[in-house]
Amino acid sequence: MLDKSVRCDGCGAEAWVSVKKTVEDVKKQLDFCAHHYNANSIILHAEGWAISADERELINTKPSVSANAD
Ligand SMILES: [Zn+2]
Repeated sequence: MLDKSVRCDGCGAEAWVSVKKTVEDVKKQLDFCAHHYNANSIILHAEGWAISADERELINTKPSVSANAD
């Protein structure tokens, strides 16, 4: 479960996708917003990163400032 303290490693926005990979017994993790996950997903897959959390389906369930702007 990702919370608001988890930020995108690309831009610092709230992260929605977390990927992990173990390299020489060292566990590594990267977190991405939807934009940066989409931008890097092909490279991440090619490098062997596996999705450990994907909460993009929750993005549109959260109230946004613009949704209530009138
Ligand atoms: Zn980002």
